[in-house]
Amino acid sequence: TIGMIVINNEGHFVAGTSTNGANHKIAGRVGDSPIPGAGAYADSEIGAATATGDGDVMMRFLPSFLAVEQMRQGVTPTEAAQTAIARVAAKHPSFFGAVIAVDKNGNVGAACNGMEKFPFSVMNSTTKQPILNYVDCS
Ligand code: ASP
Repeated sequence: TIGMIVINNEGHFVAGTSTNGANHKIAGRVGDSPIPGAGAYADSEIGAATATGDGDVMMRFLPSFLAVEQMRQGVTPTEAAQTAIARVAAKHPSFFGAVIAVDKNGNVGAACNGMEKFPFSVMNSTTKQPILNYVDCS
């Protein structure tokens, strides 16, 4: 998956994901990417989130929606992403995936499960260059 969150200069958020698909998927599989709240979710009053991992699992937990709702309650993007990942991992301890969240002030957070570190890039609006970050999954 490529998950992307964009804020325009008026503060409007958009979020979206691509998908790898799934091996041996059944015909007609939808997956998480096109389901709002599963693959991605944005609310310009709060922020946005995207997720990657097994879409058939994530569709049941709506981790992107959960992360945005957590930020609505006032938690940081990092805490929001951690809560969303923990919700999935509680039922699927071997879940391999990640959530990235951005709040309306442009603060970024991420959390992951099932790997050592998860890479994500943040565009620096001054230099116009992406900065590669890693979040620890432990
Ligand atoms: N989330 C994707 C899916 O299950 C897989 C991926 O590309 O991470 O369709």
